[in-house]
Amino acid sequence: SALTTAEIRERYLRFFEGKGHLRLPSHSTLAPDPTTLFTVAGMQPFKTQFLGGAPRFPGHEGEHRRVTTAQKCVRVGDIENVGRTRRHLSLFEMMGNFSFGDYFKRDAIHWAWEFLTGSEWMGFDKDRMYVTVYKDDDEAFGIWTEEIGLPADHIHRFDADENFWPADAPAKGPNGPCGPCSEIYYDRGPAYGDDSWDDYYRTRESARFLEVWNLVFPQYDRQDGGVLADLPFKNIDTGMGLERVASVVQDVPDFYSNDVFKPLIDRVAELSGQPYQGESSVSHRVIAEHIRSVAMTIADGVVLSNTGRGYVIRKILRRASRHAYLLGLREPVLYTLVPLVVQAMGGAYPELVSEQERVQAAIKAEEARFLGTLEAGIVRLSSLLEKIERGGTLPGEAAFTLYDTFGFPVDLTKEIAEEHGVSVDELGFDQSLKEQQERARAASKYGKSELFGAVAEVLDEVAAEHGATEFVGYDQLDAT
Ligand code: ATP
Ligand code: MG
Ligand code: MG
Ligand code: MG
Repeated sequence: SALTTAEIRERYLRFFEGKGHLRLPSHSTLAPDPTTLFTVAGMQPFKTQFLGGAPRFPGHEGEHRRVTTAQKCVRVGDIENVGRTRRHLSLFEMMGNFSFGDYFKRDAIHWAWEFLTGSEWMGFDKDRMYVTVYKDDDEAFGIWTEEIGLPADHIHRFDADENFWPADAPAKGPNGPCGPCSEIYYDRGPAYGDDSWDDYYRTRESARFLEVWNLVFPQYDRQDGGVLADLPFKNIDTGMGLERVASVVQDVPDFYSNDVFKPLIDRVAELSGQPYQGESSVSHRVIAEHIRSVAMTIADGVVLSNTGRGYVIRKILRRASRHAYLLGLREPVLYTLVPLVVQAMGGAYPELVSEQERVQAAIKAEEARFLGTLEAGIVRLSSLLEKIERGGTLPGEAAFTLYDTFGFPVDLTKEIAEEHGVSVDELGFDQSLKEQQERARAASKYGKSELFGAVAEVLDEVAAEHGATEFVGYDQLDAT
């Protein structure tokens, strides 16, 4: 039978240990540096080593210029991709091998090829392999064609918008190590789409050609003003998507049928009494997907709140909670899925095991709170929508009243309205919100006591909205 996700993770780490790499544990999902809220890539904890710092690591003697990890990553920018594409998760594992001024392109490419296509490793079909290289990277192109033997028509040369990491242009993105990259794709076959590799050159979007691995060649230090300075030496940073590779190896159409998600999906079906029916069972999928990132980030210390990380995770949890409600569940239930997450990932991420109780309690409390809000808001919104014809608009003021009196999140209002073919007057909503903020500001002149109760609730939600606009800008890197 096919390899499990855990077995693939272990094989990857063992493969690179065999090539002289030191295996290190994952960094927390809380980003190690302020360029993002959450850790978005395996390389992020190693920026100092890429910049020339001594590659010394706690608990290990001496210097280590070759390192391998399984890194848990959260990409806020991908949250809305979950469900829209088949290849994005909010929490995923990035397998990585890193070289700090040791080996470079040649070995990185050869080893990636060996791991993916070697019959004792992943056993991918060589004829279905495709790659991209940075437009002027003749060195990488030469290694792929002459040494690996990949046909030239399986390779695209892309601009920095695709093949420079991080950011979609050399002068853009966060300061720090960066460089051109070469990405590896697997053709999942005509069952996934009838587009060709040449089509991909134009469309840059394909359900059929699945990006599984990014080989980055960090040789620059991006400084203020987009200046690219040479790093003291050339590095390797790679990121292989564990769940994507597992989907190929297990030959399942999407994540939700693989060994990690299936138990979650099955449990949701059991709890709700609603059988899972594949792609149309959006609620099962949202719940299974979101509970992983919620559980993992809370285990790592995220506290649900109205700003920053706490707001992002609260929003994800509330979305899952709403889908549980849609399945007819009226009591907190998501917290009961946590043991399945621990079962699947606790071996590689022991913090999940030690924090399980705290994680469950935090999720349960938030579910209870949110269910109260939902009940009242949904009843009110439904009666409003009944009076509006399809193609019509819900007045911004009405959306605001829901938000104001019931704490009903406006993104949920939009989602539910859309299901009725009704749009929401967002400008009107913003206007009402602004007026409310001004009133609150004026009220505050009359003493703090006025702010408790209903007004404090509103301010809470206003703070949430500010969190929302704040993190979109702050976390741009996450969208790469
Ligand atoms: P995509 O173009 O599909 O959004 P990416 O180019 O943004 O992926 P990279 O930044 O190159 O991804 O990350 C390295 C690898 O991590 C990818 O090749 C992919 O296998 C995996 N990966 C990236 N984002 C996700 C995600 N949201 N869910 C699951 N795997 C991911
Ligand atoms: Mg990509
Ligand atoms: Mg990529
Ligand atoms: Mg992406």
